[in-house]
Formats: sequence, C-alpha cells, structure tokens
Amino acid sequence: MTKPLLEAIQKGPLLGDGAMGTQLMLAGLEQGRCGEEWNLTHREKVLAIQRRYVQAGSDCLLTNTFGGSRIMLNRHGNGDKVAEINRAAVEIARQAFDGHPGWVIGDIGPFGGLMEPYGEFREEDVRDAFAEQAAALMQAGADAIIIETQTSLEELLLGIRAAKQAGSPCVIGSMAYDVTLDGSTFRTMMGVDPERAAEFMEEHGADIVALNCGTGMDMIRARQAVERYRRATSLPVMVQPNAGQPRLQDMKVVYDEPPEHMAGGLADVLAAGASIVGGCCGSTPAHIRAFRAVVDTYRNSCLTGSVSHYEDQTL
Ligand SMILES: [Zn+2]
Repeated sequence: MTKPLLEAIQKGPLLGDGAMGTQLMLAGLEQGRCGEEWNLTHREKVLAIQRRYVQAGSDCLLTNTFGGSRIMLNRHGNGDKVAEINRAAVEIARQAFDGHPGWVIGDIGPFGGLMEPYGEFREEDVRDAFAEQAAALMQAGADAIIIETQTSLEELLLGIRAAKQAGSPCVIGSMAYDVTLDGSTFRTMMGVDPERAAEFMEEHGADIVALNCGTGMDMIRARQAVERYRRATSLPVMVQPNAGQPRLQDMKVVYDEPPEHMAGGLADVLAAGASIVGGCCGSTPAHIRAFRAVVDTYRNSCLTGSVSHYEDQTL
C-alpha cells in the first residue's frame, strides 16, 4: 500500500513527470485536436508515454486531463464524455506504474477563458465544470488533484473548492508565472506574485503550493520561487518548470533546455526545499531520468547528514 502523498513528501522530495502535451504531439496528435480524447481512442499511446516517465523514475504522474473539464471538452464536441475521459485517464496513469509505488495526480487545467465581468463565462459554469471534473477524477481513484497553469486567484479558488468538495486528500494549486520585461521579478499574467498566491492557497485550504509552465521560468527562477513560497507559507512546494523557451525549428516547436542543463539547476531547487519536482512543456523522459539522478543524490546526502532539510529519508 502506497502512503498518502502528503505523508510521503515528509520523508524527502519526490519526482514528478514531464510534459504530456508535447509528447502527445510526438505520438501523432495534431495541433489543436483534443489530447484528452486519446484516453479513450488512443489509450495505448497515452499509456506508453506515462510508462516512459515511470521507467525514467517518476514517483508521481499527472493524468492526461489538462483540458478535461466540460468547458474545454465542449470545444471538441466531447462535453458529454467528461466522466469517461477523466476516469480513463486515472486508470491509464495507475496502469503505467505497473504495480510500483507511485501517486496519480488528477490534473485540472484552466477552463480556457475569462470569467465575467472580464469575459463571457459565468462563474457558476466554471464552478460546475471543475466540480464535475474533480468528482470524476476522485471517483476513479486519484491520489491528489492539481489545479495547474493558473494565473488568477478567482479561477484557482474554484478549482481548490472543487477538489476539496470531491474529497481529494491532497489539493495542489499551481501558478504559471512570467518573468517581467525588466527581468527583476515574476508574476502571473493577471498580476499575482508568489507570496500572494501562497498566502491565498494556505487561507483556502490547499495542501501544496506549486508552479508550472510560465515564461522565462528556468531552474534559477524556480529556485527563487521556492524560496519566496517558503517565506510566505509553511505548506510544501512543488515545481514543474518548462524545458526552456519554445522556438520553431524546421516548422516544429522545440524547447531549448536539454536534460543535463535543466538537471544542473535542480540541486539548488531541492536545497531550497522543494518537495516535488518535475517538468512542464518540452520536458521529456530524458529530462526526468536526469532529474532522478539529482533527486537520488540529494536524498542520499540527506541520509548521510550533509543536508538537514529532511529528517528521515525512508519512503
Ligand atoms: Zn507547460
């Protein structure tokens, strides 16, 4: 029996996974098509991606449900398949662990629009969509729920409440920060800084404060974010930055941070106190394999007493 996620991270940092979207594209998903539908139509391809992450050393997998809310699925005519798509995603991730200990984190991404008064979406529709998705993920047996790539506290709150109401034993709120033009700091597109996000999440009952994706958020910025989160809250911290910046090469989007480079900054992120580390857009099983080595070295150095952040390093 695998321990609850919140208990496990008290014993030392865990390794998350890498990108799903860019891996689906590599597997043949066309730009603009519904990647979540593949949980039903191309199940073996989603499973193969997640198996590669487990083989590379992931302790935690995010379900392939970033766009799995009714509002997102409606754009592809799949609004009637919310429960099916989310259930299949949890089952695929669980299967990818193939009996190994591991945690399935149900993924809720942004609903993809703006709420009134800035946009045309009614708050109650977003609330209902998140509640429906969170319930489907929990009924299928997810170990936690992450509300990710968030830029506004209003939308984040709807996600946190949905996850809690669905009975998730661990709720992760994950913000997408952009480095400011002058490079002096980072905040979300809607102007939220890490301190405000951390205080807000603690106040509203999230269990882990996180960041993922964003613009210009390399490992150095990720370390700074961990430090800023930890000054603002006592909650554990999770980080999943992108593998650098996207650019076009031969008409394909490539990310410019190779595994060794990204992994090179990871020891500092762990030393700053991150409890779960992984990658977002552009990161691959090769990145996660490189991360695994750094996480293992870090855990061993804690065991031998050269780092004292974690007291007991047994899983
Ligand atoms: Zn991303």
